[in-house]
This record gives sequence, structure tokens and C-alpha cells, in this order.
Amino acid sequence: MSSLVKCPHCGLRPREEFTIRGEVATPRPSAGADEAVWFDHVYLRDNPRGEHREYWHHSGGCRRWLVLSRNTLTHETSEVVDASTLKLGGGA
Ligand SMILES: [Zn+2]
Repeated sequence: MSSLVKCPHCGLRPREEFTIRGEVATPRPSAGADEAVWFDHVYLRDNPRGEHREYWHHSGGCRRWLVLSRNTLTHETSEVVDASTLKLGGGA
């Protein structure tokens, strides 16, 4: 049985329609930031237990970017919102 994800535009859809694009990152460093700061931003990610916010692309549906909260232990998803509704650079 397939897991279902509630897209805010399409409703409940099979998880296979979505592409996971990684965690909601920390704010982008300034262009002149130190190389080590950029390395951390681009390559290093946390590996949390429990709730984790990620960018998902509804590639098999409305093709909108979404932000989901996913529990890394149970893979349950909750709080699905369109990424365009989030305030950028706010430590999302
Ligand atoms: Zn959708």
C-alpha cells in the first residue's frame, strides 16, 4: 500500500508522485562569506531524529514546490504547505 501525501493543491496523492529535494536549508550566506561557511551551507546537513522540514516537488502532479514536515523515525508527513507561502531567509 502506498503512502499518501496531502498536497495543498491536489489533495491526497501517492508519495511516488513527489520528489524529495532535501531539507529546508539555513539562510544563504552572503556572497563574500568565507569559503568554509559556503562549504557548510552547500554540503553539510543535519541528520535529525524526529520532525524534519524538507522541500518536496510534486513532480507527478501540480509541479509546485512544497515544504513538508516529516518524522525521520516513522516517515509520517504533516504540515504540508506551498513553498511560495513561506518567508524566505527567515530560518525556515
Ligand atoms: Zn500538487
